[in-house]
Amino acid sequence: MITIHGVPAFDDNYIWVISEGNGKAAVVDPGDEAPVIDYLQVYDLQAVAILITHKHYDHVGGITGLCRQYRDVRVYGPANENISGIDRKLKEGDRVDIPGMKFSPEVIDIPGHTEGHIGYYASPALFCGDTLFACGCGRVFSGSFAQLHASLVRICELPDSTDIYCAHEYTLDNIGFAKWVEPDNPELLKREKQVIGEREQGLATVPFRLAVEKETNPFIRTDMDGVRSSAEKYSGTGLSTAEQVFTVLRQWKDKDYD
Ligand code: ZN
Ligand code: FE
Repeated sequence: MITIHGVPAFDDNYIWVISEGNGKAAVVDPGDEAPVIDYLQVYDLQAVAILITHKHYDHVGGITGLCRQYRDVRVYGPANENISGIDRKLKEGDRVDIPGMKFSPEVIDIPGHTEGHIGYYASPALFCGDTLFACGCGRVFSGSFAQLHASLVRICELPDSTDIYCAHEYTLDNIGFAKWVEPDNPELLKREKQVIGEREQGLATVPFRLAVEKETNPFIRTDMDGVRSSAEKYSGTGLSTAEQVFTVLRQWKDKDYD
């Protein structure tokens, strides 16, 4: 049985630890080693693999510390980003074979937040770093708006039943902006109530289902009339493509909301 546990780190990061009952574990995006080592020790697990989605400090800061603690750990990461400590570089279509683990995700290229961002897909789970968040998406740093839009489209081609394991607890905050875009979306309002309840109980809102995103996340609903018209109203121009709508939404949130 596979277990996926979110180790909280910093203010709002999740470091995902995958284990399957034989004492071995894979760790996704360890921005910090200390909380991961604590978790691994409590459950008597040995880190055998680190999977990195992109180069930002809050995702790679714990590589050195984990490598010091677990000598044989393999460190996987994107071929198109320069990250120190990575010894196995991955690109679209590669499969990650971790010695001693059945967990064997496939790599998808999902650039945009950064230029070389990758995701790890092991049905039904997708580890997508800072690309797709619940009711939102990553900012465009060293990638482009066109890339991030294409990456979100790509993720939406996965089965609706996919469980999305992103790297931050941003859901409630993202819902605030999603309501600017679609104030009358009943599914969004329903999700807001549910998320408020979960957060009041101290529960994580990640992972979440891709199907739910398709009903509530404006950044992947760019072909809906209501989303387009909100973006057109904000920008004051007609928008003919989903990529244009996406770009306006992302810039709108950057400028006026975040
Ligand atoms: Zn990032
Ligand atoms: Fe991050």
